[in-house]
Amino acid sequence: MSDIFSTELITLGTAAGPAIRGKENGMASAIVIGDQFYMIDFGLGCVRSAHEAGLRGQDFKAGFITHLHSDHVAELPGFLMWNWGAPVEGFEHPISIYGPGQDDGHPDGQQLAGTEGLINHTLEAFSYDLRIRETDEARPVMSDLIRPVEIAVPEAGMVEPRAPFTVYEDERVKISAALVDHPPVNPAFAFRVDTAAGAITFSGDTAESEALIRLAQDTDILVHEAVNLDFFAAKGFSEAFLNHQRQSHTTATGAGRVATASNAKHLVLSHLAGVATAAEWAAGASSTYTGPVDVATSGQRFALVPEPSYAAV
Ligand SMILES: [Zn+2]
Ligand SMILES: [Zn+2]
Repeated sequence: MSDIFSTELITLGTAAGPAIRGKENGMASAIVIGDQFYMIDFGLGCVRSAHEAGLRGQDFKAGFITHLHSDHVAELPGFLMWNWGAPVEGFEHPISIYGPGQDDGHPDGQQLAGTEGLINHTLEAFSYDLRIRETDEARPVMSDLIRPVEIAVPEAGMVEPRAPFTVYEDERVKISAALVDHPPVNPAFAFRVDTAAGAITFSGDTAESEALIRLAQDTDILVHEAVNLDFFAAKGFSEAFLNHQRQSHTTATGAGRVATASNAKHLVLSHLAGVATAAEWAAGASSTYTGPVDVATSGQRFALVPEPSYAAV
């Protein structure tokens, strides 16, 4: 990470849940570092949103999945197929997609797909189209290029519980993770992306999380989820649904508390569950955090500006 590349966060989609309650795309973000980009989650609408942001598969470096709720992975198959091969300025190089393994705590966990199953089954489900295009259009063999990597969670006892750990590193970026609280989903990750220009931390889906506060210490941008509980209560959603929201998600006020506790320089609310105006979302966060707050929209860009250094010459 010696060179300082220009670094941008693009909030490709900002809406929570497998539900359409407005015009925003589903949850997905890109980190653009120089001429390469990295994806964090692949929610509904990310294929078009990434294209409109100017991102092309030929510059796609790696993908990271916070957890396997469908609103975070629904367009992963489309993203791979729409960014594949020379005809679409797509990838022709190997790409790793990092994400959760199987959920050992679930009674049927061994039958349920982790990231490896998700990707391998996708390649199988679309095998007819993939094979046709590999032979008919001379596209590279997709299954040779896409490599699922299930993130190994450090064993309890080996390290302090819920301590941050490194997931990925290359010459531009270091990505670390922490286990966050999104019951009953396990594992669910928050990710921190460190570049020479600064740090961007993604909460993933979580209740207010000590592990996230630790991962996000002094981050330049904290991208945090928020839920409007009043919206769901007023709409008469079931008690079971409301309880899930309370135990597995964070209010805007809570996101502000996390931003303050982690000394984040800038809070960006994304993964907004329920309906509220931007002013209402921001007011919740600003009641507990004095720094700048943005309520992200699909396709919005946030630049990381490195502090100038004046090296002696
Ligand atoms: Zn979600
Ligand atoms: Zn979720």
